[in-house]
Amino acid sequence: METTAAFIGLSCVDCDASFDASEATHRCPDCGGILDPTYDYDAVDVTREELASRRGGQFRFEELLPFGRDVAVTMYEGDTPLVPAPRLAEELGVAEVYVKDEGRNPTGSFKDRGQALAVTAAVQHGAEDVALASAGNAGQAAAAYAARAGLDSHVFLPSRASFVNKAMVNVHGGEMKIVEGRIDDAGEAYEAAMDDNPAWYSLQTFVTPYRHEGKKTMYYEIAEQLDWETPDHVVYPTGGGVGLVGMYKAAREFADLGFTEGTPAFWAAQAEGCAPIAKAFEEGRDVHEAWEVPDTICGGIEIPDPGASPWILEALRESDGGAVATSDEEIMSSTVTVAQNEGLEMGVTCSAAASGAWQLAQEDRFDEDDTVVLLNTATGNKDADVARSHLMSKGL
Ligand SMILES: *Cc1c(COP(=O)(O)O)cnc(C)c1O
Ligand SMILES: [Zn+2]
Repeated sequence: METTAAFIGLSCVDCDASFDASEATHRCPDCGGILDPTYDYDAVDVTREELASRRGGQFRFEELLPFGRDVAVTMYEGDTPLVPAPRLAEELGVAEVYVKDEGRNPTGSFKDRGQALAVTAAVQHGAEDVALASAGNAGQAAAAYAARAGLDSHVFLPSRASFVNKAMVNVHGGEMKIVEGRIDDAGEAYEAAMDDNPAWYSLQTFVTPYRHEGKKTMYYEIAEQLDWETPDHVVYPTGGGVGLVGMYKAAREFADLGFTEGTPAFWAAQAEGCAPIAKAFEEGRDVHEAWEVPDTICGGIEIPDPGASPWILEALRESDGGAVATSDEEIMSSTVTVAQNEGLEMGVTCSAAASGAWQLAQEDRFDEDDTVVLLNTATGNKDADVARSHLMSKGL
C-alpha cells in the first residue's frame, strides 16, 4: 500500500484505538466505531503557496491526504469556483456571500471528492468490487470512479432516486439494484448483499474512512480562494454530515499548520421533513434520534438516521455554529430565487443551504461585515424536473 509521508493511519473516533491503514479498512476492528485518518502534521512539508500553484484537482493537497497524486484514481475533481453572490449578500444583510459551486465536478456533485479517495483506497487494498447504498449522487460518483479504476460497482438505490442518477450508474457500467422505498430500505438490501459477498469493498458513508477525508478538500479550496482569510460562516446542506465533518477537520488542520486562523461557524442546513441534526442541536443533545417519517423533496439530505451525529453536533458546537431547518416550499423557492437573481443553478437539495441562510439572517445570526459561504453540493441540472414542477405548481 502506497501512502503519503505524513499519513500515520486510522484512529477510532469512539475508542481512540489506532490502526495501520493496511490492516484496518473500514470500521474500528475493536468497537465498530468510525475510523478517521490521522497525520503527523510536523511532517507536512509544504507551503500554502506551493499548494496553490499546483493544478489538477483535489489531489494537489496530497500532503494532507492518505494517498498521493501518483496513485490517485482521479478525474481532477475539485478546483471548483467560489462564486460571489452580491444580490444574496444584500438580501442577507452581510458583506459577502459566496457559493462554492460543487456542481462543476465530473459527475456534477461533490460526492466525487469522497469517492475519488475511497476508490483509491479500494485499489490500494486490492479490491475488485465496490458496493454502497446511496440516495443517488454518491452511487453515480461511485460507478464513475469504479469505471475509471477498472473495478465492478454494485449500487443500491431507492426507487425514488433521480432519473439522472439511475441512468448514469447504468452508463458507467455499474450493477444497479433499485430498492422499493427510501434510503434505509436500500441500505438493508446493500447489507444483505455485503453478507453474501464478503470480498466486496464498501464505499458506504462513514463505513469507509475515506469519504469525509476526500470532502475535506472543499474547505482547503475555500480558504485558498478567500486569500487565506477564514470565512465567518459556512452553511452546508446536511444529510449524513460527511462534508461537514470533513470541512471542520480541514479548518482545524489549516489552523494547526498556520495557513489560516481559527475556524468558521459551521451551520447544518436541513429540510423540515427530515431534520434529526437540527432537532438534536436545538434540544442540546449529543446524539440524534432517528427521524420516524422522513418526508422531503430533498433526496440528498433525506437521511433519517445519521450515524455520525455525535461528531457532527460536536463540530457545530465547537465552531460556534448551529443548525437550521426550512420547509420544502422555502427550499424550492430558494432554488428559483438564486437562479433568477444570480444565474447560479443550485440543486434543490443544496438550496436548503440558501433557504437556511435566509432563516439564519432572520434570526440575526450574521453581522453586516460577515462573509458567508454556501455550499452548492450538486448541479441544478440534476433537479431540473423538480424545480420546474415547483414553478408549474405556481402557475408559472
Ligand atoms: C449527499 C448529498 C448531501 C449531503 O451530504 P452529507 O455530507 O452526507 O451530509 C447534500 N447535497 C447533495 C446534493 C448530496 O448529494
Ligand atoms: Zn473503536
